[in-house]
Amino acid sequence: MTSPKTDTSMHQLHQIHTAMGERNLYDSVSYCNRCGMCAPVCPIYQILPRETTSPRGRNQLLRLWLEQKIKPSLADKTLLALLESCTLCGRCKQMCAGDIPTAEHVLEMRRMLRLSVLPSFLQSFLQLRGSHPFLFSLVARLGIFLRKVHLIQIMRTLRITRLSAFKWLARLDDLLPEQVVPLERKFFPVVKQAARFAVTPPACIYLPSLEAEWILPQLARDTYKLLPQPVLVWRHTASGLFEYVYGDLARSRRLLCRLIERHERTENGKLPLVTDSIDVYLFLTRAGQVLSGQPAWEERARRFAAQIRFVTDYLPATEKVPSRQRVQLECGALFERQGKPFTQARQILSTLFGKNFVQCSYTDTDIPAFGYGFTLHNRAAEIDFKTVAKIARTKTKSVFTLSGLAALEMNRLLKQFYPAAEAKHIVHAKR
Ligand code: SF4
Ligand code: SF4
Repeated sequence: MTSPKTDTSMHQLHQIHTAMGERNLYDSVSYCNRCGMCAPVCPIYQILPRETTSPRGRNQLLRLWLEQKIKPSLADKTLLALLESCTLCGRCKQMCAGDIPTAEHVLEMRRMLRLSVLPSFLQSFLQLRGSHPFLFSLVARLGIFLRKVHLIQIMRTLRITRLSAFKWLARLDDLLPEQVVPLERKFFPVVKQAARFAVTPPACIYLPSLEAEWILPQLARDTYKLLPQPVLVWRHTASGLFEYVYGDLARSRRLLCRLIERHERTENGKLPLVTDSIDVYLFLTRAGQVLSGQPAWEERARRFAAQIRFVTDYLPATEKVPSRQRVQLECGALFERQGKPFTQARQILSTLFGKNFVQCSYTDTDIPAFGYGFTLHNRAAEIDFKTVAKIARTKTKSVFTLSGLAALEMNRLLKQFYPAAEAKHIVHAKR
């Protein structure tokens, strides 16, 4: 099916998983039949209703590019706006009858153009977690200390954070809880003690997300308690997700291969690897796609992906929580809004809260998490407002999320527009 006119040398991913099986980039984008059904659910199209900002427009751009009918360049402002504005939320895929992975196509276009959408300091800092975890830890602690001594507040007062190079700092400051406590102080003493007395082999591995490790120790603690004991906790371990989305694919692959090797060395690769972040889950279950075209790794990646679990697999939901308050599920995630964790999460909340669980249509705008506010300075406020409007309209009091980062994003908005509600990770649903 590949057109003889296409240039495959630009492709970064060898194969993309499509509804028709593994396909190369051109075949994957060619399945888009331009029906336009995806446009109304795209959060960016809702704000900027233009063909170029619709999922269909993004797919057509890629197709024309691969057919060498256009020559994109970083100097083209319209093109940059189109590529930067996608939140990678995957809502278009959910709506599409052909399951076209538009978010993956946008990512490929960014990689082909070497377009970095995160502020450069933030990008370099976050990359340290994978390459130099010790240095990352030092810089993160320094940042926490400077925040504690009100440096960011001083920068805000002096309006330094209004400069485009520092806008992300104000967003980060709003996002973080007042007190940031790294995980080890409150959580690792418990883990160390448990490990000392463990005589049986581990039952599973817990890979805490960046936010659980650095900002939300309660999320790590509650996840740890849910899991079958003894639990092996892998600290300071990057999955490669960040590099896949914001860095480069080669680096992401290196981190992923390192993780796969470590998993294989631990109890012969038979242990389930559990994450509290839906984004990490969706990335790791794509290990086969990420390492496609590398014969030595493809099969190992698929075996590894089969062992990835999201925390909802271990969340019991047998009895009702005595509550009259309405609750909602916030499905914000990268790439996908459908599949096992989403179905499980709905079932769990429905069992726990009965008719107080408000089922929302996915055409309502929700949070395209994973730090969208850092990349979409100009549009984030509009997306934020639509999200909170949905919660206020249904008089919801608790919003459950599938990642700690989505809960942080959501709480930042709620504090600003609808303080009657609060957001929590779904592992806290029974507390
Ligand atoms: S991505 Fe899917 S829904 Fe959107 S235009 Fe293409 S085929 Fe239609
Ligand atoms: S991934 Fe989200 S933002 Fe991007 S085109 Fe699809 S719906 Fe729009």
